[in-house]
Parts: sequence; C-alpha cells; structure tokens
Amino acid sequence: MEIKKLNETKEKLVILIKDTDHEFINTLRRIILTDVPTLAIKSVSIKKNNSNLFDEIIAHRLGLIPLVTDLKTYELPEKCSCKGSGCAKCQLGFYIKTIGPKMVYAEDIVIQDPAIKPVQLKTPIVKLIDNQELELEGIITLGNGKEHSKYTPAHIYYKGLPKIKIENPKNIKIIEESCPTNVFQIEDKKLRVKNLYDCIICQKCAELSENKISVFASEKEFIFTIESWGQLKPKEILKEAINIINEKLLELDNLIKK
Ligand SMILES: [Zn+2]
Repeated sequence: MEIKKLNETKEKLVILIKDTDHEFINTLRRIILTDVPTLAIKSVSIKKNNSNLFDEIIAHRLGLIPLVTDLKTYELPEKCSCKGSGCAKCQLGFYIKTIGPKMVYAEDIVIQDPAIKPVQLKTPIVKLIDNQELELEGIITLGNGKEHSKYTPAHIYYKGLPKIKIENPKNIKIIEESCPTNVFQIEDKKLRVKNLYDCIICQKCAELSENKISVFASEKEFIFTIESWGQLKPKEILKEAINIINEKLLELDNLIKK
C-alpha cells in the first residue's frame, strides 16, 4: 500500500491510497462513521423554559451541537473504570442560565471543563423575547455513531482514482469547455489532462469525443476524503480509526489463541 496527501486544511484531509481495494477503503470509512468517538450533549434537564420552543426541540438542538473533543482526557462510559456509572473521566456537566431579550447561542453553554467548547460558537439555539427565560443543565459524554449519529466525527467519502485515455478526439475546444470540473486543458493544440483528481467520471468527454476519450475509475487506487465536523482534526480521526481497527483485530487474535 502507498499513500499520498493531496490536500490538507483544518477541516479537510484528502489522501490518495494505492494498492488496496474497495473492501478495505469502505471498512475504514465505516469505522470512522460508527466507531470514532466524539463528545456531545447526552442528556438535558430543563428547569425553566417559557420560550416559543418546546423543551424537546431545545434538547434536540443541543444534542446536535458539535463540541471540541479531547480523546486523551475523556473515556467512553462503557470503557471507563467506573463501568459507565459516571465519573470525571467519562462525563462532564454543563448549564445554560439566561434571560431575554436575546438570541441564545452555543457560546452560552457553560461547560465544566473550559477546554471543551462548541465548534461553532454562533450556532443559534433559541430566540428569547422580553422576560423569557431559559435555564437547563445536563451532561456531556463521549459516544460513537453506532449509538447516535450526533457523535459521528466527519463526512467521509471516496472514489476510485479516475483513469483517462485520450486518442486524438475532434472538437477538443468543446470538450475542454464542457467538462463540468475543468479536467482538461489544450496545450500545443492537443487535449491534455490538467486536473485529474477533480474528474467525477461523468462521461461527458467520452460522449462528445465519440469514445475517443475513455474514462473509468480505478478499483485499486482511491481518493479518500475526510471532512471533519470540527470535533477532531481530520488526521486525529484517521489515526483513531486505525487504532480501533487494530484493537478489534487484536481482541479477535487473543480469542482465537485461547
Ligand atoms: Zn467513568
């Protein structure tokens, strides 16, 4: 296997993985979606709410707010030494106590551990008018996508690396201009591939060139994209997924040895 980083920003990592197959790439994708944990609001107890929204709607909105996650300090409740009964290692408290008129934002959530905060501070929760009050408290835990999709760390997708073969097509100007992702460029009166990684294999160039251009997706080389929701850095997500796969295999190996 071979990997190459194609693009990395704070929220997004794009890598090219070679010498592998769909099964492995999809395993990696699914482990990230279902097993890589993040912090989220687990439960809410509403003490006062005379806003226009029902308690349930506010609780639902709070649950969906992505929180900056620290995997070194916190433990999944089921893996914690307290066996899930709740301790400082596997849960932390928060509250909101505020009065209108104002828009209540994610930044109004006061969390026990100041290192943990909402990813987007200006996520709106509810608008309060004069004398409307909101008072609630609850707990935040680590969880994973198997338990609830609010814990998923990222949007993950992949595609086979596009392979493009060009054999002297006519209409090269039309082909260059009609590619929706600007894959081609004319150089020395010849059509060349400029942005291979952007190709979405739509086959428009194949149609326009009357099959003088053929485009297909590799079954062994993949462009793998992690778009983090902000709780973890994309690289952390990938490393954690690999740790989880290793742990699962090690557990199976130990069981077989017995
Ligand atoms: Zn615990």
